[in-house]
Amino acid sequence: MRVLWITAELAPFAKVGGLADVSASLPKALHKLGTDIRLVLPYYGFIENNEIADLAISFRDYKERECKVFRTVIPGSEVPVYLVKNEIFQTGTAYGEKGEEVDLGDRFTTFCWIAVNLHNHVDFEPDLYHAHDWHTGPVMAFLKQAGVNYRSIFTIHNLAYQGNIATAYLREAGLSSTYIDPIADPGEVQTLRFLRLGILHPDLITTVSPTYAKEIMTPEYGYGLERDMTTHRLPVKGILNGIDPDEWDPQTDQFLHRQYGPDSLDDKIHNKTELQKEAGLKVDPSAYTVGIVTRLVYQKGVNILVDIIPDLMQEGFQVIILGTGDEKIEEQLRQLRTRYPDSFGIFLTYNEKLSHLMFAGLDSFVIPSRYEPCGLTQMYSMRYGTVPVVRCTGGLADTVEEDVTGFLFGNFSSQELLAALRNSKSAFDDRKNHWRGIQLAGMQSDWSWKKNALTWLEAYNEVVQTKTSD
Ligand code: ADP
Repeated sequence: MRVLWITAELAPFAKVGGLADVSASLPKALHKLGTDIRLVLPYYGFIENNEIADLAISFRDYKERECKVFRTVIPGSEVPVYLVKNEIFQTGTAYGEKGEEVDLGDRFTTFCWIAVNLHNHVDFEPDLYHAHDWHTGPVMAFLKQAGVNYRSIFTIHNLAYQGNIATAYLREAGLSSTYIDPIADPGEVQTLRFLRLGILHPDLITTVSPTYAKEIMTPEYGYGLERDMTTHRLPVKGILNGIDPDEWDPQTDQFLHRQYGPDSLDDKIHNKTELQKEAGLKVDPSAYTVGIVTRLVYQKGVNILVDIIPDLMQEGFQVIILGTGDEKIEEQLRQLRTRYPDSFGIFLTYNEKLSHLMFAGLDSFVIPSRYEPCGLTQMYSMRYGTVPVVRCTGGLADTVEEDVTGFLFGNFSSQELLAALRNSKSAFDDRKNHWRGIQLAGMQSDWSWKKNALTWLEAYNEVVQTKTSD
């Protein structure tokens, strides 16, 4: 089976969030199971890597701009990755998330057009196209329009990001009015949500956890697409994401101050004191140190954590936040840092190495999300013996078990978060028994793709088989 995985993010080349991690870890797992899976990614100007080979293949897009094909592999594997160079991918970050001007309509229309035309230029004819999130929604419509007997799967990693883009881009790239007019949103400039094309046209829609698959059918989580989700002919299949256990292993992690495992859990403390030092906090092995690694955006609900910082400080917690994003949230965090220099630490940056030290050094990892399609950081935390305290929603509800592997709260409220954190602190106070049991239960949970890669393979097979039975 030949699968082309189409993504705007891939770790470590281009990472904004979890999509990048999953685009590396799941294809690796599927490749091990014998799937000929290959990826296509924009060759963004910021990607630096000398392992990328020029295939000396060049063609023109629908605007006569040059597309040059390069090839590399997902590091630590033999999974091929096609990187396509085009001037539209050259400047800025992937989505302009640092506030730069990026023409997202042009960028991702071009990427989708390239993805469906790539087979004309490289020696790889996919049986199945597997596309991800709004950036690649039009791939599903382009394929339908081409009428080729290829099969397609669309995976929703986050339904709230929908890509509201002027329809003119798609028309210019040759997508017919048949696909555009029925779902165009009216306005001064006619627009269309790219994600809707991804929902309306594939052979299978999936999302990244069973609970989120149910939640997105409701107005609270459907972000205006719940009707599309419920009236669509297909059910949405929720397959829980997994992690790469080699990449995230406290026993071998090169980014840690001291490596450790379930049999040497006492060594975790060296990472905690190093983290306290790096964050400029009072170095105190017995302090209860909680924190988060996150994009600082509305979804992640950091505001309810901010609301209770004075309570937490008074009750002897230390809090450390690694994140970047919303300028207003960053400013609030800076003010708290000034107010509580011994016990509130911030790193307002994106830093892979520090993120590993956070997963290893914190006692607890807090995830107060408004919604969380799957979430990977709770799984990384558990693997590192760091106890998750999370809101009971989406993939968090599917992975964390109350007082067994972590702590949960239900409503999106600072008081409920505070209660859950107090609960977790009581367990922490019984370090040798209660706490150790929770840490070990998390470390012993298997969050790798072992089981769900097989579920994916079955899904691929089912979809491809419908091709031959048409
Ligand atoms: P989302 O995709 O919504 O951002 P996930 O939990 O699925 O959330 O994935 C987030 C990924 O991004 C994790 O690998 C996390 O460690 C990483 N990450 C987020 N912010 C930072 C940061 N400031 N520095 C390093 N890694 C980060």
